[in-house]
Amino acid sequence: MTRRRSKQFIKNDIAFRLSRIAKLLEAGWIKSANEVPDNSIPVDPEQINISNSYHRPICYVDQSFNCQDCGSDELWKAEDQYWYYETIGAYYFSEAIRCRICRKIEVARKNEARKIAGHD
Ligand SMILES: [Zn+2]
Repeated sequence: MTRRRSKQFIKNDIAFRLSRIAKLLEAGWIKSANEVPDNSIPVDPEQINISNSYHRPICYVDQSFNCQDCGSDELWKAEDQYWYYETIGAYYFSEAIRCRICRKIEVARKNEARKIAGHD
């Protein structure tokens, strides 16, 4: 039986964290476990999609940003980045630019545009 890990659980799961740090060390992305801050989620070098980039992210940390459409202050949590990059498999260099509400509006707008263009 497999149990779905909650996102909060991931951040506090020591074994999960240590296995990721071991992979980062093995892959040569870090030289010491101390490089990964305590309040972050280490990346899995085998899961993250960085294509051919030489920039190697080592962990996810909470990031603040302003929504591109409405300007609201937003927090993109480490857990959500982990989910976006490793569960959905998004390219690492694509980042959150819109708040939840504006994202929904944008998705609806794109769907509508696709319908009008006859691609559905
Ligand atoms: Zn917004």
